[in-house]
Amino acid sequence: MSKRVRVRFAPSPTGGLHLGGVRTVLFNYLFAKKHQGDFIVRIEDTDQSRYVPGAEEYIFDTLRWCGLEPDESVQHGGNYGPYRQSERKAGYRQYAEQLVKQGHAYYAFDTPEELDQVRKATDKNGEGHSFQYDHTVRMKMRNSLNLLESEVQQLLNAQTPHVIRIKMPENETVSFTDMIRGEVSFETALSDDKVLLKADGMPTYHLAVVVDDHLMEISHAFRGEEWLPSAPVHILLWKYLFGLNSMPQWAHFPLILGPQGKLSKRDGAKYGFPVFAMNWKDPKTGEFTEGFKEKGFIPEAFINLLALLGWNDGTEKELYSLDELAEEFTMERVHSSGAKFDFEKAKWFNHEWIKMASPDRLQEDVKRFLGEGGISVTDDSYLAKVIGLVKERCTLLSDFVQQTDFFFRAPAVIDQEAVKPKWSEAKKEFFQTYAAQLQTTGEWNAEHLEQLFKETAAEKAIKPGELQLPFRIMLVGGKFGPQVFQIAELLGKDETLARIQHALPLFE
Ligand code: GLU
Repeated sequence: MSKRVRVRFAPSPTGGLHLGGVRTVLFNYLFAKKHQGDFIVRIEDTDQSRYVPGAEEYIFDTLRWCGLEPDESVQHGGNYGPYRQSERKAGYRQYAEQLVKQGHAYYAFDTPEELDQVRKATDKNGEGHSFQYDHTVRMKMRNSLNLLESEVQQLLNAQTPHVIRIKMPENETVSFTDMIRGEVSFETALSDDKVLLKADGMPTYHLAVVVDDHLMEISHAFRGEEWLPSAPVHILLWKYLFGLNSMPQWAHFPLILGPQGKLSKRDGAKYGFPVFAMNWKDPKTGEFTEGFKEKGFIPEAFINLLALLGWNDGTEKELYSLDELAEEFTMERVHSSGAKFDFEKAKWFNHEWIKMASPDRLQEDVKRFLGEGGISVTDDSYLAKVIGLVKERCTLLSDFVQQTDFFFRAPAVIDQEAVKPKWSEAKKEFFQTYAAQLQTTGEWNAEHLEQLFKETAAEKAIKPGELQLPFRIMLVGGKFGPQVFQIAELLGKDETLARIQHALPLFE
């Protein structure tokens, strides 16, 4: 690879980022890191009608949460700006004009009304024959291919609204090598003459993406499979404007599949799993889409599960940190066929990462969730111990609320029914004796508390196993949680005794 590696993620700020979008970021990022290259984010906002306020900030917040910081962007600066296409507007016309001069594009003066008429005429019988502005019709339309040169000049001088369209070759095979798919070919005969420059002077995506990839010296252009059909237009524009030798290498990532075909926002709502990275509320429609972050995923897990959607290193290995991924990732090992998203598997990744994470690492995230669950934490070192004790039991960060609540406040409900059927006077006496011993003991740790418990049980001739459930219910309120003596150790003497005294009469 001779050229410096420069890759870009080029989102249109039209809404939240779904799994596929973040995976595109991730694969770009990994490739850049692996080759000591640059990862650039370019905001493609040339279609102002689709612009959604807040979407751009959302994109950067998401990348920050995932730990996928760009080297260059609107927010990070860089030598190839502006990084927002609307701010590059003035520069595009010259390339469109150059194409007209070369005979690869033309001015089209057809008004929206005229186009509408042709559209209707094409579908006279309402059979759904859709009109396409292509080589079969372009010689019948009002454009610079038909009009006399003087007429065209007049129209231009009079500033008649017009667009510039690419003149697609009638019969050409356009081929390129995709790093994932190998040789890909398209026949131009079926393609339409895409608009390159709109009447308002804004470029369309097709022109802008090629010009910007050129000006930003992008070496590799990676994007989702949904862009594959646009590739021939881009290849032709590269050929006409800058030469194929300087064209980036392409790769188109496989689709992410849901339970039924391509994963969609609707699948999320239907099956109850997130499809966006973070919560997103569309300011125009009010529509809300849940995010992995708010669902309780940690970014380490989110990144890991995304990487495995369409890629593996050829072994059985599944758990990777971001650094490991940057080491191991190769584009050639990305699959060309769709990658199935499985929410249960996604949760497995999160559980594994929560287990591996240190309590310190989880502290802030857990605090956020506890706060939302109405639990306020005042002692961070206590929280760290609690996290250490329960993290094995938490699949999502939200699970920490239920799993830790009783460490911060006495249980609101005591599951008396779990105890009552097997309750006895002897058990009551056991707990009275045990409480008295706890009161006077000078040592407060799980081993000692367990030892006292067992000794007292032996004296009273009761199996300790029969006493553990009642003890747990006293401290926790229900049949869950880590080892009961470890719970007592953390709760401390006063709180443990208070809970025993409170619960004992309830079992009568
Ligand atoms: N603006 C396009 C998008 O929204 C970018 C496609 C590309 O990377 O070429 O995904």
